[in-house]
Amino acid sequence: MSKLKVYNTLKREVEEFQPIDPPFVGLYVCGPTVYSEVHIGNVRTFVSFDLIYRYLLHQGYKVRYVRNITDVGHLLDDSDEDKISKKARLENIEPMEVVQRYTLDFHKVMDAFNALPPSIEPTATGHLIEQIELIESIIDTGFAYEANGSVYFDVEAYNRDNDYGKLSGRNTDDLISNTRDLDGQSDKRSPLDFALWKKAEPEHIMKWNSPWGLGFPGWHLECSVMSTKYLGPTFDIHGGGMDLKFPHHECEIAQAKAGYGKDPVKYWLHTNMLTFEGGKMSKSEGTGITPRELMTGEHPLLTQAYDPMTIRFFMLQAHYRSTLDFSNEALQAAEKGNKRLMQAMADLNDLPTSDSSSVDVADLRSRIVQAMDDDFNSPIAIAHMFEMVKWVNLIKDGKETITAADLKELQEFSSMFVHDVLGLKDERSASLDNNKVDGLMQMVLEIRNEAKTNRDFSTADSIRDKLAQLGFEIKDGKEGTTYTIK
Ligand SMILES: [Zn+2]
Repeated sequence: MSKLKVYNTLKREVEEFQPIDPPFVGLYVCGPTVYSEVHIGNVRTFVSFDLIYRYLLHQGYKVRYVRNITDVGHLLDDSDEDKISKKARLENIEPMEVVQRYTLDFHKVMDAFNALPPSIEPTATGHLIEQIELIESIIDTGFAYEANGSVYFDVEAYNRDNDYGKLSGRNTDDLISNTRDLDGQSDKRSPLDFALWKKAEPEHIMKWNSPWGLGFPGWHLECSVMSTKYLGPTFDIHGGGMDLKFPHHECEIAQAKAGYGKDPVKYWLHTNMLTFEGGKMSKSEGTGITPRELMTGEHPLLTQAYDPMTIRFFMLQAHYRSTLDFSNEALQAAEKGNKRLMQAMADLNDLPTSDSSSVDVADLRSRIVQAMDDDFNSPIAIAHMFEMVKWVNLIKDGKETITAADLKELQEFSSMFVHDVLGLKDERSASLDNNKVDGLMQMVLEIRNEAKTNRDFSTADSIRDKLAQLGFEIKDGKEGTTYTIK
């Protein structure tokens, strides 16, 4: 279908993308843990996969996009406490209230960034039965053991015939020597073993019955279960932030191989990290800026508010595998760039045409497709798109020419690429309901025409002038009166 190439983290090289069962593509992306506002770094990951999803759809693939909601099992680094439980305990509310609040909040942020919803958005708590079943089959194959009401994955047993660490490029010897031995009280046979099921201590509020007593699932398990349930035991693309490569994705591979007998994923894709002025973005350093703070400008490090489309444009101007450095200067430059692009998109509807074209639309189109086929290289594709911006101004000035047919192709292609693939909306018109504005304008123009028919030219002119002040330009032509928004 296409010549799409993707960088596969598993092979550490760029490979031709060949879906297992074309035209179908299974895409799984690790979603958020809904215990607080989504981190802007995660937003970048979801915007990157939104671009990938949109491009695959545009290529004609039938994509089933699964992105989960982690609503149990994600433990705090330094304890056995669940992130959601902790929030619920501190605020004295139900864990599911925490989940509900931050799931809704996450959806609002995704909408603001114009990210398409996934085909399925399953939750970990909605798949406990399947998680328990997978644990049972991993115990059956001899790669997991029960200890004191918890169940652990036996990394050493698995590693005898498999390669634990192949995704993240680690080996078990190094991993063991790097492990701080925190837990004398641990029930694990080896510090590398990870929990499939954790026994719930009496104070733990999120717990379920299981063959091993009251407890809750380990975090890695849900993704194995939900990706297999909706995409099959081996599917095309698994994505996530690169911080998830180890241990999360490594554990997913091990669980799937041990429990379902198959390598789960053909192409592993990972997005890179965000920094702020070259430094790590972190709450403790005061550089942990939330999407909402970016959109309102309410953060000591921000000099202004940024439109979500500016932020999206800014994110897409870096390749998803490069780090992306936030700063006010960079965001302001993106704001200008995005405005220029949107202005050119609007101006495309209103360009003079000629008998011949001095611009090569087909060539531009093929260069943009080539860039996107090269592991979704949006920065290069956007750079090419700015040639269109240049053309628009030169054609307006009569320094370049375009035929009506070429202009139509340029309009269609630009709209497809900018709106459908990059997912950029023109916020200047998005804040208005276009149909209502048009209805209102038609009414005003009718009143003005009536005034003209009645030879009441001062009223007609006054309406025209007031509309001009509001940015509506009126043109009286043979076909009647039309307006444009400046
Ligand atoms: Zn996951």
